[in-house]
Amino acid sequence: MKAFGNGFVVTPWEVEGEVDYEKLLAYFGVDRITDEMLGRVERLVGDVHPFLRRQIFYAHRDFNVALDEYSSGGRFFLYTGIAPSKGPMHFGHLVPFLFTRWLQKAFNVNLYIMVPDEEKYLAKKVDSLRAVDERVADVERIISALGFDPDRTFLFRDREYIAHLYDAAVVVARRINYSVARAVFGFRGDTSIGLVFYPALQIVPTLFERSRSVIPCAIDQDPYWRIQRDIAEKIGYKKASTILSKFMPGLDGPSGKMSASKPDSTIFVTDDPETVRRKIMNAYTSGQPTVAEQREKGGNPDTCSVYKWHSLFTPDDEELVDIFSDCRAGNLLCGDCKLRLLKRVQGVLDEIRENQKNAERNLKMIKYEGELATRMWDWKFEYD
Ligand code: SF4
Repeated sequence: MKAFGNGFVVTPWEVEGEVDYEKLLAYFGVDRITDEMLGRVERLVGDVHPFLRRQIFYAHRDFNVALDEYSSGGRFFLYTGIAPSKGPMHFGHLVPFLFTRWLQKAFNVNLYIMVPDEEKYLAKKVDSLRAVDERVADVERIISALGFDPDRTFLFRDREYIAHLYDAAVVVARRINYSVARAVFGFRGDTSIGLVFYPALQIVPTLFERSRSVIPCAIDQDPYWRIQRDIAEKIGYKKASTILSKFMPGLDGPSGKMSASKPDSTIFVTDDPETVRRKIMNAYTSGQPTVAEQREKGGNPDTCSVYKWHSLFTPDDEELVDIFSDCRAGNLLCGDCKLRLLKRVQGVLDEIRENQKNAERNLKMIKYEGELATRMWDWKFEYD
């Protein structure tokens, strides 16, 4: 486990404390997404997703190179994933998928979704494989309700698709020395040997096509892609490009990472409307203790978890600016602000519930029957 700065910790398996995102840029050696890059995205696809405009996705590796290639008629493909763990999928898990959905639509590209149904077990975050399997079905059902292109998306579970992954994983694993893996991931004496091998598997989907992979994910996943970029060209493939996000905070404060282990600070996709309402109405705010004081002094949106959630789920920029300035001026009361957020969050959940009517069909398409899925069940890694 690695610690950075004033007691915060970020690895692919641990995020603790108040994360300093500036320090992470320097520590991981990744670049900030600039206004110039956002301008390029807008010129290419006519739009910029709010998560990019608002620097939720704030850093990258070679995304500019992927844009260069796309501008000159080349293609890239998208790769993302989710490792099922304890508890159902929550809004922190949804953020990269909602952004990936936009990227797929905007650039009209293939998408590979890995469901590593061994990772959390090997990391000793869940007690049994059976518990993981119970979660996998939920995860797949929700992903299939997010509206990915059924012919351009392939979703696979590692343990089901392993015969196709294994040749490539062996070729990748041979090129990763243990000393490098230990330094990059912080493996310790009590790390399972399965987890030491696991990074080779997570790298394999970057080799599904000869074009460049673009990986939207949270910044804690960066160690995998650093290793991929060290070895990809040596085996005839392109270095992965990444778009890296900050963590979605819980409803109990503006910093840190939403976690299923604190269920009241988290909205699960499976929460019923009354539970969602209770959690949002109990969220931490930076408002004043009384209505009179709020009107007189205003609140502080910069340190308010409700405002952080608005910046994710209130898509209209002007409305977001109004929330900020009305809060500061004391024109907005926390109760009303939370009700506005509730409407946004319910909107996201309603869309998923509505789409779940077709989830079974969609899931079949993206796992087995769509164009890309059909092709991938014949895929074999090419190696010398
Ligand atoms: Fe937070 Fe909204 Fe209250 Fe301002 S009005 S402190 S943004 S909940």
